[in-house]
Amino acid sequence: MSETSPAAATIGRLCATVPDYPEPGIIFKDLTPVFADGAALREVVDALVAPFAGRFDAVAGVEARGFLLAAAAAYATGTGMITVRKAGKLPRALFTERYALEYGKAALEIHQGDVAAGTRVLLLDDVLATGGTLGVAVRLLERAGADVTGIGVVLELASLPGRAALAGHHVESLVTV
Ligand code: AMP
Repeated sequence: MSETSPAAATIGRLCATVPDYPEPGIIFKDLTPVFADGAALREVVDALVAPFAGRFDAVAGVEARGFLLAAAAAYATGTGMITVRKAGKLPRALFTERYALEYGKAALEIHQGDVAAGTRVLLLDDVLATGGTLGVAVRLLERAGADVTGIGVVLELASLPGRAALAGHHVESLVTV
């Protein structure tokens, strides 16, 4: 694990690594111990938003772990929070995008009316793996009228092409493994 900042050291200390979960061959990075530690949660959220200071009007999170980070970041920065949800959860007119995960398939949705046109959005999630999830979240936000000015993740898996999948966007990760 490369550690280049105090937040990265905290993540390295607290992140749990679980081999073969949820299926053989996947090395699962479990950040729940980071979220459960008050000082660590604050340090990580502050470090996630710092590179994008003054460049966003709202924070978007991807269900479910991205919600933790995005809600905390929105509260900390006095901005609103936009929810990118798993399929079947939102009640009003939607945009939907289907995609493949590192393991399995999924679809994400956003309310058509939740983003005012031209809103500058910082998009957050916990782990960048293939980039499929965040790529779909970007497409949904853009279809809804947002300008995605930044993408922040706690942990980036360097063995997978997530960063390439998000080419053209400003992507920051606190730790690369
Ligand atoms: P991807 O769409 O492949 O970039 O996958 C990103 C999403 O899947 C994130 O929301 C992560 O929560 C989860 N994920 C994928 N791979 C892992 C992993 N190895 N460890 C932990 N979470 C993962």
